[in-house]
Amino acid sequence: MKQTELFTKTQKNAPKDEVSVNAQLLIRAGYADKLMAGVYTFLPLGLRVMKKIENIIREEMNAIGGQEILMPTLQPKENWEITGRWTALDEDMFKVDGHENQKFVLAPTHEEVVIPLAKKFINSYKDLPKAVYQFQNKFRKEKRAKSGLLRGREFLMKDLYSFHLSEADLDSYYEKAVVAYRNIFDRVGIGEKTYKTFASGGTFAKYSHEFQTVTPAGEDIIYICQKCNLAINKEIKSEVEVCPDCQGKDFREEKAIEVGNIFKNKEKYTKPFNLTVKDEAGEDKLLLTGCFGLGLSRLMGTIVEIYHDEKGMIWPEAVAPFKIHLIVLGSQPIVINKAEEIYNDLQKKNIEVLYDDREVSAGEKFADADLIGIPYRIVISEKSLKAGGAEIKKRNNPETKIVKLDEVTNSINFTPSNTAKR
Ligand code: ATP
Ligand code: MG
Repeated sequence: MKQTELFTKTQKNAPKDEVSVNAQLLIRAGYADKLMAGVYTFLPLGLRVMKKIENIIREEMNAIGGQEILMPTLQPKENWEITGRWTALDEDMFKVDGHENQKFVLAPTHEEVVIPLAKKFINSYKDLPKAVYQFQNKFRKEKRAKSGLLRGREFLMKDLYSFHLSEADLDSYYEKAVVAYRNIFDRVGIGEKTYKTFASGGTFAKYSHEFQTVTPAGEDIIYICQKCNLAINKEIKSEVEVCPDCQGKDFREEKAIEVGNIFKNKEKYTKPFNLTVKDEAGEDKLLLTGCFGLGLSRLMGTIVEIYHDEKGMIWPEAVAPFKIHLIVLGSQPIVINKAEEIYNDLQKKNIEVLYDDREVSAGEKFADADLIGIPYRIVISEKSLKAGGAEIKKRNNPETKIVKLDEVTNSINFTPSNTAKR
C-alpha cells in the first residue's frame, strides 16, 4: 500500500478528552477514529490489526472444535424475559423500540439467542458436545467510557458457547479452552504479562476465570500468587485468602486489564429455555454450558498499552498492520526507481509493506513511522545508496544496518507467525 493512497493521515494531536494512551496513539496514527465516548471507527490500519487478532483467535477456537456462526445484534425482548435479564440487566442494556409496542435489545451478550438456537439442533446425547462462536459487536451502557478501546459502549467480542451432557465433559472442555486462551495471548505478544485469575462468576456462577494483563493502565487490581502465578481478583480477595490452586499465601499486587473471561454457566441458561436431551438411559437431562468471552478491541488497546514508547506504537509482528515500512527520501529519479523496485519486489513476495512515497520531509516520515509502529523500517535515500543499498532498522531497536538492495527481503528474519498448536 502506498502511503499517498492510504485513506488516513497521521495527526499531531488526539482529541482533548481522550486521556488513555491506547486511544491517543491509535487516533493520532490513523488506526481508529472516535465518534463519541466509547464508540470508535476502525480505519484501514486498525482493521488490519483487528483482522490479524481475529484470525489468531479463530484458529485457536477452531482447534478446540468451535464452529463459527454470526448471531444478530438486534434481539427480541421476549427472549430476555425468559432469563429474567430484561429487568436484571436493565441498567446495562441499550433498549430499542420498534413499531407497535415491539421492544428490542442491542445485545450486550448472546446467551438469549444461542440457547434457543442450540435447542433447534441438539436433540440427543449423541449430538454432544458442541461449541459455537462468533465475532460480534456488543453494546453496553458503560458509565465510565474513558479508557479508549479498553472500555467501549460498542465493542467487538469473541464469544464461544459450549454444550455438554456431563459436568466432567464441561470441565475437560474448560481446560482445553484455557490452553487455547494461553495460545492466543502468547501469539499476540502479551502471554508473559497475562495471568489466569480467579474472579467472581458474573451474573450467575460463583467463580469464573479472567485473563488479566498486567499494566499500569489496568482498571482492575489482582493478587498474583508468588508460588504458582494464579492470580485472584481483588473483588473476591476477601473471601479467597489462600491460592485456590496451590494454597500459597504470598501475593504480589498489580494493576491489570481483563482481556478475557471464561465461565461454567452450567444450567443457568439452559434451565429457563428448557434445553434438554434424552441421555443414554432415556431420561431428560438439562444441558450444561460454558461461556468463553474475549474482547478484541480491548485486546488491541491492551497491546498498545504494553507496546509503545514516547514516539508511538511498537506492534508485535503477529498483529502489525504491515511487516515493513518502506521509506523513500529525496526526489532524485534513481532513488525513487530503486525504492519502487523494492516495493514491487516485496509485493510480489507477499510481504506486507506500507510504502511512504509522500513528498514530505525526512523528519516527518521518520516521526510518522515511529508513531505508526510497523516492526521493520527500510529507508532508501541517496545516502543509503552511497553506503551500499538500503538502511534497515527495527522499530524496537536503535541500531541501523545497510544491506545490498537485492538482499533486502532475505536480510529480514521475520518472526515466524505461529499457527494453531493443535
Ligand atoms: P468489565 O468488568 O471490564 O466491565 P465484564 O466482566 O463486564 O468487563 P464480560 O462480560 O466478562 O465483561 O465480557 C467478556 C470480555 O469482553 C471481557 O473479558 C473483555 O475482554 C471484553 N469487554 C467487556 N466489556 C467491554 C467493554 N466495555 N469494552 C471493551 N471490551 C469489553
Ligand atoms: Mg468479565
